[in-house]
Amino acid sequence: MVEWPGTCRHVEGMRRLDQLNFSNSYARLPEPFHTRLQPTPLEGTRLLSFNPAAAELLDLDPLEALRPEFTSWLSGQDPLPGSEPLAALYAGHQFGHYVPQLGDGRAILLGEVQNRRGERWEVQLKGAGVTPYSRRGDGRAVLRSTIREYLCSEAMHGLGIPTTRALCLFGSEEEVGREELETGALLVRLAPSHVRFGSFEVFYYRRQFDHLRRLADYVIAHHYPELRDEANPYLELFRAVTLRTARLIAHWQSVGFAHGVMNTDNMSILGLTLDYGPYAFLDDFEPGLVCNHSDYQGRYAFDRQPDIAHWNLSCLGQALLPLLGEPVEAAAEQANAVLGEYAPAFHAHYQERMQRKLGLRAPRPGDDLLLQDLLQLLAANRVDYSNFFRALGEFDSAPGARNAVLRDLFPDRPAFAHWAADYRSRLAADQGEDAARRAAMARVNPKYVLRNYLAQQAISRAQQGDTSEIERLLRLLQAPFDEHPGDEAYTAPPPDWGRRLAISCSS
Ligand code: AMP
Ligand code: MG
Repeated sequence: MVEWPGTCRHVEGMRRLDQLNFSNSYARLPEPFHTRLQPTPLEGTRLLSFNPAAAELLDLDPLEALRPEFTSWLSGQDPLPGSEPLAALYAGHQFGHYVPQLGDGRAILLGEVQNRRGERWEVQLKGAGVTPYSRRGDGRAVLRSTIREYLCSEAMHGLGIPTTRALCLFGSEEEVGREELETGALLVRLAPSHVRFGSFEVFYYRRQFDHLRRLADYVIAHHYPELRDEANPYLELFRAVTLRTARLIAHWQSVGFAHGVMNTDNMSILGLTLDYGPYAFLDDFEPGLVCNHSDYQGRYAFDRQPDIAHWNLSCLGQALLPLLGEPVEAAAEQANAVLGEYAPAFHAHYQERMQRKLGLRAPRPGDDLLLQDLLQLLAANRVDYSNFFRALGEFDSAPGARNAVLRDLFPDRPAFAHWAADYRSRLAADQGEDAARRAAMARVNPKYVLRNYLAQQAISRAQQGDTSEIERLLRLLQAPFDEHPGDEAYTAPPPDWGRRLAISCSS
């Protein structure tokens, strides 16, 4: 019996695990879309953490986490009533090169649950054993990477960033070989859909255009129903994905999130953050940060993400071409026009987010320069990105105010003083009150982000059997804009050992 203090209370109207409202539409798609199979259970599976906030998405009673069946059904030991497990097919461009077959090599989709609000949530096990798409992999995930995904997906949600969610995490007694021997684990994650750009690419490159159309129709019917009656629904689908992606990446850039492996198989058709691997939140503002230790060329550096998303969207546009009508030149022209909407949409979202982070009320000419100057200053002085913006809320705009706390973040004080003078004049133009600005800024500048070293501390403890750090981080990161008195230590920049943790793809 496992207990999470305060989290596992019965909630009225919520369901038992064996009474979830499964309606498995992806399983209804024909054979090449997926392979049906049962998960391979891990030895000695044990529930390590459970997230009631995600359980609510399934109408699942949190008290269910205490039943032994919770573990046996959700870790793949016994079939969960109502589920129809499958591994999905997809392909994708990895590091710029097309790989004709990827697919769920270690993930198994149990099915989709429809909640009482009418939303559908796919329930997927990550680390559930080999599938026909495993290639040379072992079908497993390790405790380290599972904790990282579990915490980060909830942290992103706490920041208001579209993402897959995490229901729970299981540990095991099974050893899994990576760069060294690690413990096998299993994540149960949720998303309205796990369809990726690569799900389309596989049928395009196989020239299976009927399947391509079927997939596009499926995605539109289930996830973009408002596009059904458009004159060219497939072009509109491409536009919708383009715009959602622009919004997503702008959000990432504004919080300083580096994904680390933006291959097209990790790009969600719904504009969600998907597949957390070697990601990082910036500590010091280092625009060129490459957080993926296997990314030798720096393809997925933090500051390249906006361009990479554009490149990935061009791959999706290419894959959708056969659906966009004849002649192909006209279809390509239309797709390119849509692709052309990406950059302006990205910039508009990014500017808006950064304007709010700076506490500026309405845009004014010169704001862009103020921001660029600041980012350069942060980079040159290696200032902690999240802590700077949080502290900027406290900026005293009175003439002559020293703003010592902020100033002391910068080794080059005169350079900061220069920028602060510009900022003060800009705030004066807004004619707002400091108190109102401070409150608004605290709602957009998180106090708590999932720094790699914090995740690493939770991992090290969990590897020794103590999961309390996971629970604590989850609580802080689900409400990252709140103060959480007593937990200020979790805002600290990394200690030396935690500055440059090497995280590779293999996890
Ligand atoms: P990722 O880099 O995690 O996005 O994975 C890329 C591809 O490799 C996907 O098809 C995964 O399913 C597959 N993959 C990653 N790790 C494993 C593993 N341990 N076993 C089998 N397949 C894997
Ligand atoms: Mg992936």
